[in-house]
Amino acid sequence: MSGHDEYRQWSAAYVLGALDAAQRLEFEGHLADCPECQSEVQAFAPIPGLLTRVESLQPVPVPPRIEERVANRLRSEWSELMRSRRRWQVAAVAAGLAAVLALATLLSGADSPPGTPLVFAEDVLVSGEIMVEQRAWGTEVVLNLESLPPAESYEAWAVDGEGRWHQVAVWGPTPNLSASVTGASSVAVSEIERIVVTTEDREQVLVEALFVDG
Ligand SMILES: [Zn+2]
Repeated sequence: MSGHDEYRQWSAAYVLGALDAAQRLEFEGHLADCPECQSEVQAFAPIPGLLTRVESLQPVPVPPRIEERVANRLRSEWSELMRSRRRWQVAAVAAGLAAVLALATLLSGADSPPGTPLVFAEDVLVSGEIMVEQRAWGTEVVLNLESLPPAESYEAWAVDGEGRWHQVAVWGPTPNLSASVTGASSVAVSEIERIVVTTEDREQVLVEALFVDG
């Protein structure tokens, strides 16, 4: 691998966790210096959350904020993946992603009404806003964050009343340490107690956001 044109083919595989350790490192090396690949990875960030319900084989809609451009990109990335030798690594998520793509077209372009804003439990240098919105399929989580501490990657979680953590988004570092990410979970808004943003593998909690009148 050498140039951006080749690396950009890896962005979906990266988000889906389909790269092996060496490829992941190599891609992250490129990612650090490539705003274009960073924005691709950010655009794909909601997908892993959606894929947590793959086993159900239910069609899982993508949040409307995933534009048609992104849906098209996913489609072409996907056929690329299925042709490649990484195929076996990603075959497990095929059914779910196919369902996501089928609905992406239907939903893209639809305007989202503003959601419910959450308040940050503690001010940990990170600023910004987190909103949630009930959808037919679960909860859309919109994160606009600034002043994130540098990290390899970031994860957003919906924590339910029984203390279970549901991943809603994963994204990589950005040059200005801010992030605008739309995540998704099959969990209903009413079941969510808080939204938590962490570094990779929940190592460090960066933000805890709660409902105002929870
Ligand atoms: Zn690139």
